[in-house]
Amino acid sequence: MFATLSDKLDLVFKKLRGQAVMTEDNVKEALREVRLALLEADVNFKVVKDFIERVRGRAVGTEVLQSLAPGQQVIKIVHDELVELMGGAEDNSLDLAAKPPVAIMMVGLQGAGKTTSCGKLARFLKNQRKKTLLVPADVYRPAAIEQLKVLGRQLDVEVFDSSADQKPLDICRNATRYAALNGIDVVIYDTAGRHQIDDYLMEELEGIRDELAPREILFVADAMTGQEAVNVAGGFNDRLGITGVVLTKLDGDAKGGAALSIKAVTGKPVKFVGLGEKLDALDVFHADRLVSRILGMGDVLTLIEKAQASFDQQEGERLQQKLKKNQFDLEDFRAQLQQIKKMGSLESIMGLIPGMGKMMRQMQGAQPSEKELKRIEAIIDSMTAKERANHTIINGSRRLRIAKGSGTSVQEVNQLLKRFTEAQKVVKQLQKMGPKGLMKGMKG
Ligand code: GDP
Repeated sequence: MFATLSDKLDLVFKKLRGQAVMTEDNVKEALREVRLALLEADVNFKVVKDFIERVRGRAVGTEVLQSLAPGQQVIKIVHDELVELMGGAEDNSLDLAAKPPVAIMMVGLQGAGKTTSCGKLARFLKNQRKKTLLVPADVYRPAAIEQLKVLGRQLDVEVFDSSADQKPLDICRNATRYAALNGIDVVIYDTAGRHQIDDYLMEELEGIRDELAPREILFVADAMTGQEAVNVAGGFNDRLGITGVVLTKLDGDAKGGAALSIKAVTGKPVKFVGLGEKLDALDVFHADRLVSRILGMGDVLTLIEKAQASFDQQEGERLQQKLKKNQFDLEDFRAQLQQIKKMGSLESIMGLIPGMGKMMRQMQGAQPSEKELKRIEAIIDSMTAKERANHTIINGSRRLRIAKGSGTSVQEVNQLLKRFTEAQKVVKQLQKMGPKGLMKGMKG
């Protein structure tokens, strides 16, 4: 996710980390590079300007420059301000506190992933034991009605029976009545899209909004379209007053601009992110976790949650304990790889492990593959338990043995060890990140 931006910021931070003494000029130089990285990632120009101003304001104080680790402090400020930019610690949960049936209206351009997100959301709500009804109200694209019916069948979630010859407003009205009579908790309305904003569509959506008085109007934005997604979000917000954003296709090679600008520009929070075509590829959005991933610090919290939710609670707890004691070792690294295999979509999980996303990119380009994962596992498997617990004992002859045992080269073993030590550092750093940091989240 956001590979180029991550790599660029990583370079800036590397320089900052190394600096024991810092001047205002050093900070300016670093911020100039951060600014370029953000602009290249297609972040809105004004958003970047304000952001850099805020960081500069905080970073050039004598308190920071004369502290024991000024570089680290500046990194922390960039981190915190990025989190703030994307909505901070705001509660992004759905507002379902109303008399059922509660209405969620999904809006957005064609191809953004609206229908798919309806399905994902239905699955999400079903897991929370909400009785959910899906309502296809996109009569201009009959395939969308069929698509939603197929999703409903896969999920075992009811889909309201509508057809392309009905009026969208009538469908919504009938569906609402049906939901009230049938004890439905939440109704998700899949509305029509267009290739671009047009007046006629907006009028239709306004009519539906006035009829439904939805608790949530979620704008579905394709992250791959960058600034365009942000502009369109603004347009929908002006006409409809959206309540939040579902940002899709973050699993692709989106540059990050949409994710980083949309809250600042529209004032509306990202509530969910889509990370793949499958129905389970939807995450609740947490600004701090996304920033940690962009900054290569991994997203240990989401990883722990996934590990706990999907199957192996013991593994999640064991990992928590080890992280608390600062004992993240190669054994954990491998255990996580094995978890990943079980968790399904490799791409969506890779970025969660500290240092891992970058390691994969460096080993074979942008897309991590099962093959690479196997190779890393083979290397760790060829180590003794002692070596896994304490990698510092792995000297030259041990490296050769490990390379031979795993059918790899000493170079590859070296690379893995280097990345692992970086990951270890990141884990340590995460723990030091103050009250909002990792430890609090893990206890909560
Ligand atoms: P709609 O026209 O807005 O209803 O869009 P669809 O739901 O039909 O989605 C358009 C395409 O985007 C489909 O091929 C989906 O599988 C794909 N898609 C939707 N969400 C995601 C996502 O989060 N990641 C990826 N990679 N593809 C997605």
